[in-house]
Amino acid sequence: MTRVSATTIRVNLKERGYDIVVTTDALSDLGAFARQRTQGTSAVVVTDENVEELAKGVQTSFQAEDFQTQLKVVSPGESQKSLAVASRLYDWLAENQADRRTLVVAVGGGVIGDLAGFVAATYGRGLPLLMVPTTLLAMVDSSVGGKVGINHPRAKNLIGSFHQPIGVWIDTAFLKTLPDREFRSGLAEVVKYGVILDAELFAYLEANGEAILHRQPEVIRDIVARCCRLKAGVVEQDEREESGHRAILNYGHTFAHAFETVAGYGHWLHGEAVSAGMICASQLAESRGLIPHELTVRQERLLSRFGLPTAPEPWPVEKLLNVMRNDKKSLGGRLRFVLPRRLGEVALIDDVTEDDVRKNLREHL
Ligand code: NAD
Repeated sequence: MTRVSATTIRVNLKERGYDIVVTTDALSDLGAFARQRTQGTSAVVVTDENVEELAKGVQTSFQAEDFQTQLKVVSPGESQKSLAVASRLYDWLAENQADRRTLVVAVGGGVIGDLAGFVAATYGRGLPLLMVPTTLLAMVDSSVGGKVGINHPRAKNLIGSFHQPIGVWIDTAFLKTLPDREFRSGLAEVVKYGVILDAELFAYLEANGEAILHRQPEVIRDIVARCCRLKAGVVEQDEREESGHRAILNYGHTFAHAFETVAGYGHWLHGEAVSAGMICASQLAESRGLIPHELTVRQERLLSRFGLPTAPEPWPVEKLLNVMRNDKKSLGGRLRFVLPRRLGEVALIDDVTEDDVRKNLREHL
């Protein structure tokens, strides 16, 4: 096996700072990475059935560093982000006499990261957490930044916390088994980083479509590392979403949330909804004279190349608006959107009227 050099990205959050390692085929080094970052001797690995084999590899790597390990496998899917499943994990931690030095290792996609992260944030007033993301979305987004949480029957991610991990270990070889649709969905978030922060990344994606879709290791590693660096930069400036800066990560998400809700969760994957949502937001920016049409066209072309939807299905406009009105991103009747100003730069616009959005959706549905 050829060993590639790893890239390390530091998330500078003073005493809560941590390293993100982006590597390929280097699972055997993970135990040592954890060993350097915790005094504890026990690690509990939480995963789902689809990545159980990867999680067993993680366990082996920890055992080589003399960690006592336990493995908990939950079913896959968004429904696992529930209080009931979190409660079962608390029981399991209690049975295993977990204490505040017990390391929680989340091996999986965003669901496992959010769930195990939430349990780590709350059990015993906080256990150390290590993120080992296995989906592209989790690698470029959910594993970095400290947001953890579970769903409430009334809303997604309603119960949660900020709990920064002690490290993030990204092995892009894990993506080999990721279903194509999940991989493409993750690419939507990658495109998002290009639009909001990094014109060069966007151009790189345009130039390397083929290699990306073939999951060429060097290209994927470059992209993932670049996205992590961008997310780290945003989180460093606004760790707890207080200044508004972190909200730029929501580009396309106000529309996406409405599409997911009206279509029913699961109809579209999150990245698919974000893809169409970004185009709607870009069209809104165009209608306000913020950007030329050409910028929307470039996004459409790239997202289509990645097999992602670029327009919503003909869902009832008033239903979509109703969801947006109740979105936590709306402020006193006005809708708040992240809109592009040029490639690599966005602005938070909070004076968009419902009529603007209605017109936009009617024109493009
Ligand atoms: P997911 O965790 O459900 O994973 C998608 C599917 O892929 C699952 O069936 C999973 O079992 C499977 N899978 C994962 N890795 C695999 C692999 N390597 N090989 C084969 N199958 C694999 O979904 P996701 O898209 O990773 O994450 C979505 C979740 O992330 C949502 O709950 C969302 O709210 C959350 N999220 C959180 C943040 C945050 O900042 N905390 C940010 C974005 C999204």
